[in-house]
Amino acid sequence: MTDSTRRQWLRTVLASLTGLTLPACGRPQDADAADVCIVGSGPAGAILACDLARRGVKTLLLEGGPVEISRHARPADARNNPISASDPFRYPIDRTRFLGDGGTSNLWGGECPRFQPIDFDSRNPYVQADAPWPISYDDIEPYYERAESELSISGGESNRYSPPRKAGFPFPLTADRSPTCLRGLLDAGGWVVEPTPQSRFPRVAQTHLPKLATYPSGTFLRRTRVTAIVTAPGGGIAWLLARGADNAETTIRARFYVLACGGIETPRLLLASKTPEHPRGIGNAFDQVGRRFMEHLAMEVATLRLRTRQRCTGREYEGGISWQFSDELKKRGLGNAVLEFGFRPSDSTLRISAILEMKTQASNRVVLSERDTDALGAPAAEVTVAISDDERRTWEHVQLVGRRIAEATDAQIVELGKGEFSWCHHHMGTCRMGLDPRTSVVDKDLRVHGTDNLYVAGSAPFVTVGAGSPTLLLTALSLRLADHLADRMR
Ligand SMILES: Cc1cc2nc3c(=O)[nH]c(=O)nc-3n(C[C@H](O)[C@H](O)[C@H](O)COP(=O)(O)OP(=O)(O)OC[C@H]3O[C@@H](n4cnc5c(N)ncnc54)[C@H](O)[C@@H]3O)c2cc1C
Repeated sequence: MTDSTRRQWLRTVLASLTGLTLPACGRPQDADAADVCIVGSGPAGAILACDLARRGVKTLLLEGGPVEISRHARPADARNNPISASDPFRYPIDRTRFLGDGGTSNLWGGECPRFQPIDFDSRNPYVQADAPWPISYDDIEPYYERAESELSISGGESNRYSPPRKAGFPFPLTADRSPTCLRGLLDAGGWVVEPTPQSRFPRVAQTHLPKLATYPSGTFLRRTRVTAIVTAPGGGIAWLLARGADNAETTIRARFYVLACGGIETPRLLLASKTPEHPRGIGNAFDQVGRRFMEHLAMEVATLRLRTRQRCTGREYEGGISWQFSDELKKRGLGNAVLEFGFRPSDSTLRISAILEMKTQASNRVVLSERDTDALGAPAAEVTVAISDDERRTWEHVQLVGRRIAEATDAQIVELGKGEFSWCHHHMGTCRMGLDPRTSVVDKDLRVHGTDNLYVAGSAPFVTVGAGSPTLLLTALSLRLADHLADRMR
């Protein structure tokens, strides 16, 4: 048997025993360098990998998570990757992400509204004058359309307050999700709702990872945790250092590298990769990596009981969202908000909650812990996040809106929200996108400033976070990055 036949034979046997797809040489070494190596197999990485491999780009997707997918997927065991949260809040990291094949899409709810144009606009009071978005809603609109197809989004009619769209949703709304009664109920008082855009097949481990395996130029390597990025003189990335399931260290080379490790692990990896040329970590010459961690806040607004009964034959529950107050909030200098309605016809109860935007604060950040290490002995990430008066002001105004809805619908207020919030588990903003390296980490093409071939995918590059869930936008950015990388490869 020749060496190459032996390798091919080993490959086939291993693949059939383990389900792993190994690269042609069995290990991702120099001789078999990929065009693009993507780190992290959540939606950002898996969708990017599929889009590149579909075009024949030799793509290597790495997943470092130790968690196997099971029917009852649970977040990573804290011992595998301990993370501390510092005062003033304990951020519940252990319940907020999934480290394993398909990433956090194993846990998410699949809600996929778009951001609003104002979220990208310099007139948005939450955009800092020295660090605007380098792209607009119009730039991202065609990619939103493609992202909605990738994530199989179903949705219904929009209204004048909805984020604008040129085409309809790829999938129609199923009858059981149409908020017909809710609409009738709120329309009369001048309040406009729409169905929540929702992913029909949300887990990329069941959609995109199997699809990647069907492309000859796509390779998925599980249980391969990248521990450091190694630079070459002159700004290029030379290779990645990684550890496999056997804990052996390996080097991985490619022409281009993309970090798609989520909004906490991506800055952690950049910060951990200190070299003589990058003593504070890669992309961190101006101390920007990890800063401006942002989340979405979920808050109860009010529970109302309608005085007049609604006829809703056969319906036990209806839900919908409203963007009606987005403009009003922004004109007042506040954060964006999307209202969520849940109506139960049996006792005429209307529950109103809201997702609120957080404002950029440099002190909310991810740093390397000086106390905790992971199973490999590397410093864990430490997250500091504090709510400011900006979020409190937005909340107060949203609650006034709740009262206005109660009056307009002639409802009895059963309970008003008490200002308690919960996190939405969206990790954003830690590698901000921008034109100026002094105030951002990646450029408008998502390339890390000061490097030639290192990119970031995911929600870490978000400049502001609006009130729309992040996965649709980060998918759109991944598809835009695929176009950019394909262009660079020509
Ligand atoms: C309970 C819950 C509900 C949610 N609901 C919604 C929702 O309704 N709508 C919405 O838009 N979003 C929702 N989200 C957020 C959504 O899941 C994330 O926005 C999305 O998964 C982010 O995708 P990603 O690919 O950037 O990161 P992730 O999905 O987190 O994937 C990152 C991957 O990178 C891997 N990785 C990390 N570091 C390394 C390394 N060093 N080497 C190799 N691999 C590495 C990780 O193991 C992980 O698999 C929810 C999240 C949670 C927890």
